Amino acid sequence: MDYDTYGSTAVELAIDLANADREAGPEWATAFLRAHAEWLEPGTATELSADEAWRAAATADLVRAVALATAQPEVLERLNALLALAHPQPYATDHDGELHLHYARREAPALEQLTTTVAMGLAQVVAQHGWQRLGVCSAEGCDDVYVDTSRNASRRYCSNTCASRSTVAAYRARRREEDPAAAPGHPR
Ligand SMILES: [Zn+2]
Ligand SMILES: [Zn+2]
Repeated sequence: MDYDTYGSTAVELAIDLANADREAGPEWATAFLRAHAEWLEPGTATELSADEAWRAAATADLVRAVALATAQPEVLERLNALLALAHPQPYATDHDGELHLHYARREAPALEQLTTTVAMGLAQVVAQHGWQRLGVCSAEGCDDVYVDTSRNASRRYCSNTCASRSTVAAYRARRREEDPAAAPGHPR
């Protein structure tokens, strides 16, 4: 499985949204939209009000909830709550040279474009490839979510950074077991 078969990579936007850092307060939403402007129709105003930022956060929480669900009834309930926020009005376009679908109407405000694209992108992947493709990072101290696009569904980490950090940590733990003198801080 790779992204080419999705016909859409909108699920990446959903994952990025779920993992977005919201500590900055309501401004996080505007910053997120500006960093992901390629997903919006050119000319869309990216300034969100505090209320809109709150609604974007609720969408982010629902994406995370779908990724964390461990049983299908849970997935359905959460995915449908997310889809209820969407206002899909799809159209086909080849603005980047390849024919693909956009899910939100062109003139929709930024929040509507975001919510609709995220909900439809996530729902499409879950329906086509299964909700088991969504997961949460196994690295210690990281709870970012991911979509597993590997052929054998073997992904466990949100990023290469977390994967190599965990590999190093496991290696060190193994060395400590084999040779306690190699433990950090142990007097040599
Ligand atoms: Zn496009
Ligand atoms: Zn991670």
